[in-house]
Amino acid sequence: MNKSPITKIVFTTVIALLIPIFTYTIFQFVQSDKNEELIKSIYDRQLGSILFSVNQHCWDMFMSWYAEINTLAESFTRHSYGRLKSGLYAFNNSKSSISGSFVWFSNQFVVYALDQESTKLTLEAERAEFRNKLNSIILDLDKEIDKQVKRAQQGYIKPLAVTWQNNPQARETLLIFPIINNSYSNENVVLAGIIVDDLAYIHDIVARKFGSMNDGNLIFAVKDDSKIIFATDEAYESDYEKYEELWILPDLDIQIKLAGTTLAELSKSRSRTNLVLLVIVNVVFLGGLGYLFYNVTTEISLAKMKTSFVANVSHELRTPLALIRMFAETLEMGRVKSEEKKQHYYKTIMSESARLSQLINNILDFSKIESRKKEYKFEQSNLIDLIEQTLELYHFRFTQNGFKVEKYFEPNIPLVYIDKEAITQAFVNLLDNAVKYSFDEKFIKVSVVRQNGSVEMSVQDKGIGIQESEQSKIFEKFYRAGNSLVHNTKGSGLGLSLVKHIIDVHGGKIWVSSKPKKGSTFTCAFPLN
Ligand code: ADP
Repeated sequence: MNKSPITKIVFTTVIALLIPIFTYTIFQFVQSDKNEELIKSIYDRQLGSILFSVNQHCWDMFMSWYAEINTLAESFTRHSYGRLKSGLYAFNNSKSSISGSFVWFSNQFVVYALDQESTKLTLEAERAEFRNKLNSIILDLDKEIDKQVKRAQQGYIKPLAVTWQNNPQARETLLIFPIINNSYSNENVVLAGIIVDDLAYIHDIVARKFGSMNDGNLIFAVKDDSKIIFATDEAYESDYEKYEELWILPDLDIQIKLAGTTLAELSKSRSRTNLVLLVIVNVVFLGGLGYLFYNVTTEISLAKMKTSFVANVSHELRTPLALIRMFAETLEMGRVKSEEKKQHYYKTIMSESARLSQLINNILDFSKIESRKKEYKFEQSNLIDLIEQTLELYHFRFTQNGFKVEKYFEPNIPLVYIDKEAITQAFVNLLDNAVKYSFDEKFIKVSVVRQNGSVEMSVQDKGIGIQESEQSKIFEKFYRAGNSLVHNTKGSGLGLSLVKHIIDVHGGKIWVSSKPKKGSTFTCAFPLN
């Protein structure tokens, strides 16, 4: 079976576009919960990786401190006590978050440097107190230190963090770690330590690193056992979405959240936006498809109409030409004797050639209108005179076909502003149709009345009439009603579309009132101003 082009287009679009797009859309809707979870987990991982890099940064920082102190301790001999001490001072002073450092030898000999030393620890008693405190901490951590030393010998350094309560105004942590180098024997453990001012450390190292990764969409905080001790912005403690222990200072947690929203809300709104966009794409696509179908169907039906137009027109041209030729030949050969018959032949030739020119005019005008080349000459004119003249011209055709013609012209009809030639053509087309589509009752009534600020001209017949469903379509180009009586009548489907165009150009209106088998009345209204 031969499929029509429209079926082919529908079929191809459905297979190639509609099914994939709809399947994808449905899939996205079904998957929307999973998508939400996925988006959430992606954000969650991003937050996690920010915390991780903050931790990593702090760790790297510690390793560089470790390396510095290791170098200082390595060069130590009993005679260079002063050099080590001033090395430790310089180390402290170059780091704002460090308030003290020391190197401790297994025979409990310790070299240290403290920020407050010059004021507070100058007395021998205070020095002894510091040493005792340190020794007792180290003895207490005996087992952990043993483990640390073993791990350090395998190349893995991790400091022990102990709360350091030497300075009541500050929160400080003592980081203790073993010094491993070739100049010390295995039995003589050497430890080193750094006293960290926690708040300064959070501000200068932790928060700065976070700031370098934050584009303003995140809030970051540091919390100790009980409360938040630092935050980049205000937020409820319970709103933080992700937290992690700070590796270097394990008493503290670093935590993070999105500013102004939560992960769940964000992922829900992202997934909702995606779905809405998808729906919009579908709607636009369907709209486009509808528009495409509409255009293709109109083009196809126009193409069909054009084909039947060519057939109709050739038929319409051939019949009157044959008649004219036959009558002219008969006359030329002098075969017609009676004067009456001669007159009949002349009149037939005239009326048939008039029909031919009317048809040719229609076609020419139509092509001018289509190419927008048609021009109009408007002038104040008497519509009734124009109608009378045309009816006069058509008189022979009416009587020849047995038509009864009635006229009704309201008195005092004002002049109308029209292109006379165009309106004559429109009127002739209406008359022509009234003749063509009347079979049993051959009656035509032409009237002109004044109505609601305009002049109305109507052509009424008692012919085959037009079904209501077709009444709006008959004004389209090439359209001919589906009635078989219509198809047995010659026609091009151009007449009414031309009439409508002409009336439109005059700023007027045209309409039909009709009942099948009862007849039709076509009315054109011309505005008076
Ligand atoms: P056509 O050349 O087919 O007459 P028109 O554009 O003049 O083309 O008319 C379009 C269609 O409108 C006709 O084919 C016919 O079906 C219908 N029609 C027009 N005038 C009449 C009328 N007076 N009575 C019945 N049907 C009409």
